[in-house]
Amino acid sequence: MRISSIEPFIVHVPLNNGIRDSTNSIDHWGFIGVILHADNGLQGYGFTGTHAHLPADQQIAAWIERIYGPLLTGEAIEGRHSIQRLWHKLHDTPPLQWVGRAGLSHLALAAVDIALWDLYAKGENLPLWKVLCSGQRNPRLDAYDTNAGWLNIPLERLVSGCQQSIDRGFKGVKIKVGSADPEVDLARIEAVRRAIGPNPRLMIDANGRWSLETAVKYAVRLDAYDPFWFEEPLYFDDLGSHVELASRMRTPIALGEQLYSRFHFDAFLRSGAVKFVQVDALRVAGITEWLAVADQAHGLGLPVVPHVGDMMQVHRHTAFAHPSCSLLEFIPWTQHCFAEPAIVRDGEFVLPDAPGAGTTFTAAALNTFRRRLN
Ligand code: MG
Repeated sequence: MRISSIEPFIVHVPLNNGIRDSTNSIDHWGFIGVILHADNGLQGYGFTGTHAHLPADQQIAAWIERIYGPLLTGEAIEGRHSIQRLWHKLHDTPPLQWVGRAGLSHLALAAVDIALWDLYAKGENLPLWKVLCSGQRNPRLDAYDTNAGWLNIPLERLVSGCQQSIDRGFKGVKIKVGSADPEVDLARIEAVRRAIGPNPRLMIDANGRWSLETAVKYAVRLDAYDPFWFEEPLYFDDLGSHVELASRMRTPIALGEQLYSRFHFDAFLRSGAVKFVQVDALRVAGITEWLAVADQAHGLGLPVVPHVGDMMQVHRHTAFAHPSCSLLEFIPWTQHCFAEPAIVRDGEFVLPDAPGAGTTFTAAALNTFRRRLN
């Protein structure tokens, strides 16, 4: 099949209640994407995810439409290697490489790459996970709950919400830290750990907010609550400080949602500082690069627990398919927008079975939440 035309879109989905972490305040989730129309009538949907800043989102959409559009139109999709070839065409073309190997261009490439995989899987009439692993999937995919632990949730509700998540079968809960006073964070961790007991996984996430000095100061006290991991404790790109912290803290470090490429990951993974790899296809320019990073991690014996900027739609496929994955985070903000929403039952993700990457929006969601492209 060949790509006959492309249709970029911006969708801003309102959250029922706004959320806050140490770094971000969010009241909408943004999907900036593209529908690839094929000459056989199929449509491939792909997108990246943002915090719904319309001027920035319009830049991503413009990159898709004006820069990638002309390079895609007329291209053939014949097998998964054709997707890899197209990825390199979009990524490696010299004038484009000069201005973007990360940032907005990479988010735009993610949208296109995911749409290519969606189209290819639909052409095969198979769910993406089956295309990726030829049916040799992981037997189950556990879910941990991120949605009970935002920083703006008052302590009492934080504790009861985390307790309810564990009671509902989630295989762990994640709570945010990075308050102005770290003592407040410690008190919240202690209260949740006391409520859920010693066994369930308790993850903590600073969204890059703590300084090395603060993290080292509190490391031993954090260790006492036995966190399953400490996510993004320090500024995202600061490899040296992560190595230093890892040498002074028993709790393993998780990160990856802010890293853009296999080369970026390679430095962090080989440093030994990272124990859980949170690669997100929406940031690493799509499923093609996600697979490369997951293979890298797997080669080092490190588990991959993807960050779900896609709100789980794509990563349930890649996580069911890749041998490094057995756990995925749960954020239920946009389930109502998709033809086949990501579902968790008794703490496990339900195996998707519709053809494609799970990225097809409902017409109602596109109509209701679409924003202007310029
Ligand atoms: Mg995080």
